[in-house]
Amino acid sequence: MHPESSQYLMPITERPPVVIHHGRGSFLWDEDGRRYLDLLQGWATNSLGHAPDELVEILTRQAARLLTPSPALHNRPQLELARRLCELAGMHQAHFATTGAEANEAALKLARKWGRVHRQGAYEILTTCDSFHGRSLALMAASGKPGWERLFPPHIPGFFKVPFGDAQAMRKAIGPGTVAIFVEPIQGEGGVVVPPAGYLRCLRELADQHNLLLILDEVQTGMARTGALFACQHEGVQPDVMTLGKGLGAGVPVSAVLANRRACCFEPGDQGGTFNGNPLAAAVALRVLEVVAQPDFLSEVVRRGEQLREGLRALAGQFGGLVRGRGLLCAWVLERDAAREIVDRAREDGLLLNAARPHILRLMPSLRIEPTEITLALDLLRRAAEGVLGQNLPGRRLEVPGEAGEKGAGSCLSAR
Ligand code: PLP
Repeated sequence: MHPESSQYLMPITERPPVVIHHGRGSFLWDEDGRRYLDLLQGWATNSLGHAPDELVEILTRQAARLLTPSPALHNRPQLELARRLCELAGMHQAHFATTGAEANEAALKLARKWGRVHRQGAYEILTTCDSFHGRSLALMAASGKPGWERLFPPHIPGFFKVPFGDAQAMRKAIGPGTVAIFVEPIQGEGGVVVPPAGYLRCLRELADQHNLLLILDEVQTGMARTGALFACQHEGVQPDVMTLGKGLGAGVPVSAVLANRRACCFEPGDQGGTFNGNPLAAAVALRVLEVVAQPDFLSEVVRRGEQLREGLRALAGQFGGLVRGRGLLCAWVLERDAAREIVDRAREDGLLLNAARPHILRLMPSLRIEPTEITLALDLLRRAAEGVLGQNLPGRRLEVPGEAGEKGAGSCLSAR
């Protein structure tokens, strides 16, 4: 713990005793001049790396022109961003906010309103075990993060959880009061859990059969992170509502909820927020979108993701475990709870990564990471793994039962 941190900051998380000073591309430097190869990138946020030239330029230009006129007035970047996002996502209307949690809150409100208007007041929302949708009270109730069911009671009612990746369980959980299905296309915070192929398509069919909204939380998976602009496009699935955050601003706080014509039902007074659609954030997001929606950019994300996973598979062959992920959202699932120790050891050697679970390492680099930087990251990770897991253990790969089956379902406390 940093001494100033323990004195003045509320201790909401454990942080290492370093202070980050600046960043460039895939690298960060601390106040003592130490360099780190950064595979956290603002928590899967800095899709263009640290301090990308085009964002520095647009931030400077837009800051000099107009910061925040008022959410009650239009501004040009906001209008342009809404149009471009709706075109690219096949949606009808957009609303902007600042964090992923705010975008998801707006999506939940939209679903409850839609239930009142179109489904005789149905308001129950089906979500999944081990999911993560944000830290507001409603989203803590919606999320399936283990341990959260004990925090901050009483909980907001109306959420039911089923195992992720199990379309039959979702089907069985649908009742007369159900209004929506709310899932991540890939569970990010849950440890990069990729559902079986066809899962999202089944959820789309269920939503159509039962007149429900399909809401996809693409806060972590959207904006090219998985090698498609939106992860649902891998399966050709169109949700009714989609939320975006993180990579949308590539480091600048901005988020969005997009809805198709069927789901749109907000009227004046239903939703707001002082900073919604502010031109500074919107101008940045527009520029990010221009870059990451390019087919060449997306195919490079796919190639770099393959390179990273191939290297991780070699490590898993040596030290055990399995590798999963899509595009540049990857995880190495270890055979024992050594992720925190490896993260600490790697940081000492100048590599930043995340322990998503005690046995899961998550890697979420800049979408512009260079092949040589991936090679360096894998070398540093091998060194940390050797230090913690021991040298050249006989490789024992875990089985991967449809990817989603591997994680525990012990947190399904609110299934019907
Ligand atoms: N949804 C998903 C899938 C996320 O991964 C996160 C954050 O990690 C959120 C929502 C919440 O976003 P924020 O922290 O910006 O509120």
